[in-house]
Amino acid sequence: MEIDELNKMIKGCKKCRLSVTRMNAMCGEGNLNAKIMLIAQAPGEKEDREGKMFVGPSGKVLDELLNKAGIKRHEIYMTNLIKCMLPKYRRPKQDEIKTCSYYLNEEIKLINSKILAPLGYYATCYIFQRYGILSPSKAEFSSIYGRLFLAKDKKILPLPHPATLLYNPDFKEDLIKNYRKLQVLLKDCKWYLVCPMKRFYEEGKLDKKWIELYCKGDWGNCVRYRMEEEGRFHPDWMLPDGTLDERLQKEVKYEGYHYL
Ligand code: SF4
Repeated sequence: MEIDELNKMIKGCKKCRLSVTRMNAMCGEGNLNAKIMLIAQAPGEKEDREGKMFVGPSGKVLDELLNKAGIKRHEIYMTNLIKCMLPKYRRPKQDEIKTCSYYLNEEIKLINSKILAPLGYYATCYIFQRYGILSPSKAEFSSIYGRLFLAKDKKILPLPHPATLLYNPDFKEDLIKNYRKLQVLLKDCKWYLVCPMKRFYEEGKLDKKWIELYCKGDWGNCVRYRMEEEGRFHPDWMLPDGTLDERLQKEVKYEGYHYL
């Protein structure tokens, strides 16, 4: 299916009760070759009236957060888990998610972004379920925002919904920090070419997940990266999360490697 055909289906959809109360069913918007796909929960009132993504108050906040992360709207693809407005901003019901997520699944296939960034609780729960990742309890949910997860060929970065700042302006610095990770994910770590992790991986001595999660993922969160930046000594057998790997230590001693 092509994106135009999918969007036509979305615009005319009457598969659930939300079609009665909406003005516009919202299609995704943005770059069809985007590396990053943002997945919000559902359109707000202004979005419903105008038929455009993120034109209301949350959109202003989103623009500011993307701006601070050095990312332009036209570089990414934005869509919703639920394509129609939820009356009085109520929570989505499970049957609505089940029915409407057909469109999101098709968008994920068509756009094929490597990085999926679900915004807020419901979008994140849905994406986690789709990729077989266990969701934490609601009480612990905020701890996963800004953390990178790997699933199949995707990198998943759950982020707080921009609307969070409309109710809790005190979280602004946290949100800025989390959204900046989108920029981090777009490029590899600058130390990768000379890092022992690269060589261990290429020699089959290190699991690929370390490279994808850190070197080609959230390198800003890598202990090796931070120590390198601060000019602090760290052995070659230290993993990106800071743990010392005895197996790698033996390799280094045995083969007498010398890295930077
Ligand atoms: S292990 Fe850390 S420092 Fe090394 S390349 Fe990966 S992210 Fe960069």
